Amino acid sequence: MANKKSGKSKKELFAEYPNLYDGISKGDYDACMAFAEDYKSFLDKSKTEREFTANSIEAATALGFKDIESKKSLKAGDKVFASIKDKGLILAVIGKKPVSEGLNILGAHIDSPRLDLKPNPVFEDNETVYFKTHYYGGIKKYQWMTLPLALHGVIYTSDGVKHTVSIGEDESDPVFYITDLLPHLGGDQMNKRAGDFIPAEDLNIVVGGMPIKKKKGEDSYSEPYKAAVLKFLNDKYGIVEKDFVTGELEVVPAAKARDIGFDRAYIGGYGHDDKVCAYPALMALLEQEKPDKTCVTMLTDKEEIGSYANSGAQSVLYENFLMEIVAKCGNGSLDMLSYRKVIAASKMLSTDVTTAYDPKYASVYEKRNTAFMSHGLKLEKYTGARGKSGTNEATGDFVAEITRVFEANSIPWQTGELGKIDAGGGGTISAYMAKYGMSVIDAGVPVWSMHAPYEVISKIDLYYTYLAYKAFIENI
Ligand code: MN
Ligand code: MN
Repeated sequence: MANKKSGKSKKELFAEYPNLYDGISKGDYDACMAFAEDYKSFLDKSKTEREFTANSIEAATALGFKDIESKKSLKAGDKVFASIKDKGLILAVIGKKPVSEGLNILGAHIDSPRLDLKPNPVFEDNETVYFKTHYYGGIKKYQWMTLPLALHGVIYTSDGVKHTVSIGEDESDPVFYITDLLPHLGGDQMNKRAGDFIPAEDLNIVVGGMPIKKKKGEDSYSEPYKAAVLKFLNDKYGIVEKDFVTGELEVVPAAKARDIGFDRAYIGGYGHDDKVCAYPALMALLEQEKPDKTCVTMLTDKEEIGSYANSGAQSVLYENFLMEIVAKCGNGSLDMLSYRKVIAASKMLSTDVTTAYDPKYASVYEKRNTAFMSHGLKLEKYTGARGKSGTNEATGDFVAEITRVFEANSIPWQTGELGKIDAGGGGTISAYMAKYGMSVIDAGVPVWSMHAPYEVISKIDLYYTYLAYKAFIENI
């Protein structure tokens, strides 16, 4: 029970979650701004899960990380990783304590909402060539119209050769585009519900508008504009129309991450969900030399569509890596019960973004239980919808343990729910890990305009989230 005579001040009694820019020291401010610069450049070259994976492996390899396959056994200080089908990544730094004491894990996702190309995307209509798309993840479809768009991904020719595509990022590159109706003729359109404003089948990107040049004596093409685009692609990549079925081609905004505001408090960018957590989770791990406990960072794919497929968090490939860690830290063999006990003793921050309170949309938030921009990392005990449906709920003792570590390391944090109880809901990868008995809680950066082509985060939240992830894996 509370001690009546403790003489605690109001400041000690009341929960306060202040704006972290208010009263920030020069040192913290400089470190925060520098970290933000590094994040922006990493984000600009890592718009897709494949690019994020490749750039992470490059950064890790430069620091001595090795593919776990190349190691026969593991000892404290060893740094290893496994690529998950080139679209996900799991990395570890082996700790001084035996793995039986559990692993400290950070788990983020590196896929973001976007438009994928359909397997048969190319068509010509009235002298213009388009690619048909299929949206990926939860988007507001109208937000993707009239933006400069880039095309990223891979496509295979019939000889099995992989071709990497990235068009629209370089200033000299062309971009792609989804048209909208001029307001002068938009009377009927403007009366539609926002969800019906543009049908998914109309999210077609413009990719060309010049007919093919015929050689003398050549047959005429029934679709000369489409033929010109196919010829261009064949000259550049050697692909033919049928090869699109092999494509993993993603349409993303061509814009780069930029500071927002006169004071540069915020960063606008594509894919903050969840790269704004994946990046600090990666950086926190890459800094480890010989931690007490074995530290792991998981960068997963397919979270936006339910964490399925062989690269999603539900894939056993991530677990195979953890099994390999446990086996190679021991005598090389694995006993299933001991492995399961390691996992049950493990602790994880599910490092995914959350929404930040937006005064413009105040009605969907419950102000006492929501995260605010620039108030730091948000600890979210549960997600889910309605009566906590589909959520992982962190236990009180685990929350107490984490907040103790944060307080001891001067890490500010805030807490709350996603929004008003019946306003909607969401989920993260935390539930998939919790079923193994692992202690898991969601802890991530607040975002404005989540899932929009250009989302906003606060630099100070990013910086303290990075410090929080580091404090967690080093001290929990
Ligand atoms: Mn997310
Ligand atoms: Mn999301």
